[in-house]
Amino acid sequence: MPNQVVIITGGSRGIGYGIGKCFAERGASLVIADVDLGAAEKAAAGLDGLGAVDSMGVLCDVTNREQVGAMVDKTLEVFGRIDVLVNNAGICPFVDFLEMTPEVWQRTIDVNLTGAFHCTQLAARKMIERGEGGRVVFITSLAENVSNENQVDYGASKAGLRMLMVGASIKLARYGITCNAVAPGMIVTPMTEHHWSVPENAAQARERIPCSRLGTPEDIGKAVVFLASPEAEYVNGITLRVDGGHQACCR
Ligand code: NDP
Repeated sequence: MPNQVVIITGGSRGIGYGIGKCFAERGASLVIADVDLGAAEKAAAGLDGLGAVDSMGVLCDVTNREQVGAMVDKTLEVFGRIDVLVNNAGICPFVDFLEMTPEVWQRTIDVNLTGAFHCTQLAARKMIERGEGGRVVFITSLAENVSNENQVDYGASKAGLRMLMVGASIKLARYGITCNAVAPGMIVTPMTEHHWSVPENAAQARERIPCSRLGTPEDIGKAVVFLASPEAEYVNGITLRVDGGHQACCR
């Protein structure tokens, strides 16, 4: 929808930037909230070139509640409102369970789960004050349902994120705010390209995924745009899997 004001955490690159591209093409105003201010500003400028109305990059480590509060305030100061929050920022350290330190575990939970709590609560309060509803979209993962020995922290954080989404969807619907999740499958981004650049890994994945290809950040962006659109007005508390059928398939 044109003129939406959309905050994307971790929006400088990868899936977050792909989501930004899809909103930019529809004439949104974007707030790219990321730990690297330079990268966030560069991404915002790139999105303006793709059709966004007037984007801005803001320094925001989602684990830092003060920075999240300042990012929300800055959005209101510059754009006057928040229509959509996309909780996209995430990390995946990929450490074997028996070798994992408590610090690695805690950092994954802090960024992937607690960060989304801060952003959702502080943005939702402002949406409620304005009284015109809003949309919150959480980027979870197929790892909310299935895992492996190197993603125990990650899977736990994403399963928690799903239930944060579900709980928030129940509380916030009365204010006209919907909460939903998009669970990406295998998407090529800076987080994963070391893995997918190995030809055998990519070939194996194509074999397993019914749609026969890896996903793109824009595949995720299109689903997020749908959940933020008027067409999704009555969609609340769901997870939309965008994985080319990967989870549906047991081969
Ligand atoms: P990337 O690592 O490519 O991008 C993540 C972005 O988040 C980076 O810009 C990163 O900044 C930023 N970021 C990291 N920590 C923080 C923080 N504390 N506060 C704010 N921003 C932060 O990852 P993807 O694009 O691949 O992943 C995006 C989301 O999608 C994540 O939640 C991930 O779990 C999820 N996902 C990804 C899948 C995939 O196959 N790629 C599959 C399923 C889910 P910097 O680089 O400066 O650290």
